[in-house]
Amino acid sequence: MNKDRKLIIAGNWKMNKTVAEALDLVNGLKMELATVKEVDVVVCPPFTALDGVSKAVIGTNIKLGAQTMSEYGFGAYTGEIAAGMLKEFSVRYVILGHSERRQIFGETDALVAKKALAVHAASLKPIVCVGETLAEREAGQTEAVVGTQLKGSLVGLTPEQMEETILAYEPVWAIGTGKTATTQQAQEVHAFIRARLAAQFGETVAKRVRVQYGGSVKPANARELMGQPDVDGALVGGASLEVRSFADIVKNSI
Ligand code: PEP
Repeated sequence: MNKDRKLIIAGNWKMNKTVAEALDLVNGLKMELATVKEVDVVVCPPFTALDGVSKAVIGTNIKLGAQTMSEYGFGAYTGEIAAGMLKEFSVRYVILGHSERRQIFGETDALVAKKALAVHAASLKPIVCVGETLAEREAGQTEAVVGTQLKGSLVGLTPEQMEETILAYEPVWAIGTGKTATTQQAQEVHAFIRARLAAQFGETVAKRVRVQYGGSVKPANARELMGQPDVDGALVGGASLEVRSFADIVKNSI
């Protein structure tokens, strides 16, 4: 595929997989994806499986991500995980502001922005998620909602940091529902996001930022979605939990 930006496909395992199950999954992915160089492949296991998975991916092209991170460096923050702890397991990416974190755990744009700065301070790369609910889309508010989330979640980032940030457009109504945005719906919002980035950070930065699509991505729809001019990869939930489906999403995207 002829795009200047390298595709990045990340699997968000959410609160799934024991250590043994995680190792089965990543070992299967290693067999399937060992030769893939065209796509950045990232897996984001739960914290408890980072140690095992990080050892399993040594020497492969599969990179490691975390599903969230504290905005603080260390200290009395019960239950939280800091950047320095993630780096012990060679984590390179951190998903921030996933709609589940926003809706269930009350994460705000301001908090996501603080976390994004902490991720960059540790020389890791954030994957910042944005997306509208069904009610918001039906009310014609998609661009307003996504625009507000973008602005608020990227506050304080320098253009250099923005370039190293990955965005994920995830319409909330398409997450785990089997409903995928049409390629046209996805492309429209991705183009809008890039235009907003250009206005805030300049054309050059906007052209370099990779914007993933997320929401019921499957092997059958990956090729068409990834073929859109402003879609630069995928953030995959359900279909990342099985070797076959995640490997086929990656292979079908090339
Ligand atoms: C997600 O949760 O980021 C996601 C896209 O989930 P799914 O692929 O299951 O829709």
